[in-house]
Amino acid sequence: MSDLKARAVEVNKRLKKRYPEARCSLDFTTPFELLIATILSAQSTDVRVNIVTKSLFRKYPSPEAFARASQVEMETAVKQTGFFRNKAKAVIACAQTIVEKHGGEVPRTMDELTALPGVGRKTANVVLGNAFQTPAGIVVDTHVTRVSGRLGLTQNADAVKIEQDLIPLLPRSQWTAFSHRLIHHGRETCAARKPLCGECVLNDICPSANLT
Ligand code: SF4
Repeated sequence: MSDLKARAVEVNKRLKKRYPEARCSLDFTTPFELLIATILSAQSTDVRVNIVTKSLFRKYPSPEAFARASQVEMETAVKQTGFFRNKAKAVIACAQTIVEKHGGEVPRTMDELTALPGVGRKTANVVLGNAFQTPAGIVVDTHVTRVSGRLGLTQNADAVKIEQDLIPLLPRSQWTAFSHRLIHHGRETCAARKPLCGECVLNDICPSANLT
């Protein structure tokens, strides 16, 4: 096993112990709900998105209902998540494509998902890993970017390249959970401005310990 792989395996093991509850923090009951919640989560917090989607999914209980919604009423419904004009446009167009091209079912492949309006690789990865349990990659958000860089698991700054660096380090069965663990660690310990290196369970294997 390479040094990098060994470090990734150890990081994953320790974070699993430290954050046994780490999971997707967006509320959803169907793959479609997770897809919509993830589109809305861009530049917002999961807490805020969960507040908005609670009433949103009651008002529009299916892809067909989203597809029929007007731009104006959808803008009002998603306003609290920010960037509401673009997001309203994206969720309506996304739902229309799902209804028209996929019979009202969220597609299950990376290519089909990323062909949907408003859906990039990160959103597709969230849906595949958390709604279908068939990850095609690793979700790289701002926390994963920062923490994996500090841990020396990647030298890249671009999300797609970081994902390609992380994928070979762990088995596929760990990709989704590993991402959640790095996100939890980034929120609770390895914060952007003031990482709590003194309290960190990775302190002795982190090349950035006490440097940031
Ligand atoms: S030791 Fe510091 S920089 Fe390294 S992962 Fe922990 S908190 Fe982050």
